[in-house]
Amino acid sequence: MKNFKKERTLVIIKPDGLQRSLVGEIITRYERIGLKLVGLKMMVPSAEMIEKHYTLDPEWVRITGEKTIKGYKDKGMKPPIEDPLQVTKLLLERLKKYMASGPVIAMVWQGAHAVQIVRKITGKTEPLMSDVGTIRGDFVLDSYEMSDIDERCIRNLIHSSGSVKEAEDEIKHWFREEEIINYRLIQEQILYDVNLDGILE
Ligand code: ATP
Ligand code: MG
Repeated sequence: MKNFKKERTLVIIKPDGLQRSLVGEIITRYERIGLKLVGLKMMVPSAEMIEKHYTLDPEWVRITGEKTIKGYKDKGMKPPIEDPLQVTKLLLERLKKYMASGPVIAMVWQGAHAVQIVRKITGKTEPLMSDVGTIRGDFVLDSYEMSDIDERCIRNLIHSSGSVKEAEDEIKHWFREEEIINYRLIQEQILYDVNLDGILE
């Protein structure tokens, strides 16, 4: 049977998140829902590290290109390039500049539905469209329209894994096995135990 408690996801606080002094706020949001922090490090990633990160999934190039083109069309706008692969090639160059521009914080969060829960709390990729109450919706105001004019990446504070498989690959890319800590949190009894029979004295 699937062990829900063991699902893990990778979160990176991007250089803009750190510069905006949002590290504490971002960690609080994942912490307060009940997820467990099992790995954390600060570093200035190299451009190679970033390129590898985004191309771990060979499908990412196509999916991201299509998603970007759809984003334009949904707003009734014409995408600057029609070929999804070309769209992503350009994006990858911008991502390397963005993500390697300063320190980032990489974290592994663990708990039931960690991947989906983190995506939900983080909000949609384009901050203009992210719901209020999500991190991107509450703390940043960028749009594709603005980032295109400036020929840069959209600044959206955080990266989070898109699927359980993506999370497994990304965690291996950013962390060595021994950098992830297995430990028990007292609150897990309340979150996961079948009976709440340990409360009363
Ligand atoms: P992330 O993977 O960073 O959590 P995501 O899964 O929502 O975000 P992806 O489609 O994987 O987004 O794109 C990776 C990152 O590339 C985005 O977070 C954003 O910073 C940037 N990005 C994506 N699409 C565009 C675009 N059309 N224009 C500018 N930047 C973009
Ligand atoms: Mg992604």
